[in-house]
Amino acid sequence: MAQLIDGKAIAAAIREEIKEEVTKIEAAVGKVPGLATVLVGNRTDSTTYVRMKRKACEEVGIESFHTELPESVSEEELLSCVERLNSDPAVHGILVQLPLPKHINEEKILSAISIEKDVDGFHPVNIGRLAMKSRTPRFVPCTPRGCIELLDRSNVAIEGKCAVVLGRSNIVGLPVSLLLLHRNATVTICHSKTKDLPAVCRQGDILIAAVGRANMVKRDWIKPGAVVIDVGINSVPDSSKKSGYRLVGDVDFDDCKDVCSMITPVPGGTGPMTIAMLLRNCCDGAKEAFGLA
Ligand code: NAP
Repeated sequence: MAQLIDGKAIAAAIREEIKEEVTKIEAAVGKVPGLATVLVGNRTDSTTYVRMKRKACEEVGIESFHTELPESVSEEELLSCVERLNSDPAVHGILVQLPLPKHINEEKILSAISIEKDVDGFHPVNIGRLAMKSRTPRFVPCTPRGCIELLDRSNVAIEGKCAVVLGRSNIVGLPVSLLLLHRNATVTICHSKTKDLPAVCRQGDILIAAVGRANMVKRDWIKPGAVVIDVGINSVPDSSKKSGYRLVGDVDFDDCKDVCSMITPVPGGTGPMTIAMLLRNCCDGAKEAFGLA
């Protein structure tokens, strides 16, 4: 049986570290970091995510500022909300919860967030810097940063390893591939047009799965001894649960757990790390703003 990479425990340790840092920041400058969340519409999943993020802020002493806007909000109104938060000195991070309604141009909104406050790391300048050699992005997207942190805190060497990333989305697959490249892994990125996925995935000393397909990765996709990070969060029907469903990853955990050397569970793997990294980014942004970085 592979060693479990316990994202819940690692995230809890990071949150404790941030809590201590926030106390030190307050002692030094008499102010605490602030995170602004913007929720458009009332999607259940988005509402839950934003509530979890605000609660996590509260627990570590980061002040949270919340704006709720109706589904019908115009692009101009949303832009002026972002501009107001950009110029608010108490706000060090701005998080506009995605997805946005179809009538709003997501790229335009994300590009309007000041790069000094882009704690989600989705501003094109931050992604552009991440894509270039010897450039430092102001912020790195939270889920990809969480994947690297899980590897580092589990003492998994990245340099020189063959890393395979399944998925090329802007929020997970692409940025995590770039981060692995920065850490001197040899990176292969797979997507829906990749031929013979099992054979390509089997090359990976490190396999990161971010496709959004329940239990897609089977044991014969995994190089024996590989380290597997499962980013997928998929709900599948389960009549034994009160809710009628349960969450599973992109990797068939039971099928793969004795082929790899380490694996993240779902839930309890990468999920808790995303929020921990958001707090990390917000705290880093505040330290920069207060001249403490
Ligand atoms: P996404 O935007 O839908 O991207 C999925 C990627 O997987 C795309 O690049 C797509 O290829 C590829 N893909 C889809 N089906 C495939 C197949 N059958 N074979 C090969 N490649 C395939 O998804 P995402 O936003 O990156 O999210 C991926 C998963 O991570 C989801 O389960 C999501 O819920 C989860 N997630 C978790 C966290 C967390 O905190 N742990 C955060 C964000 C997302 P193409 O580019 O060719 O279409």
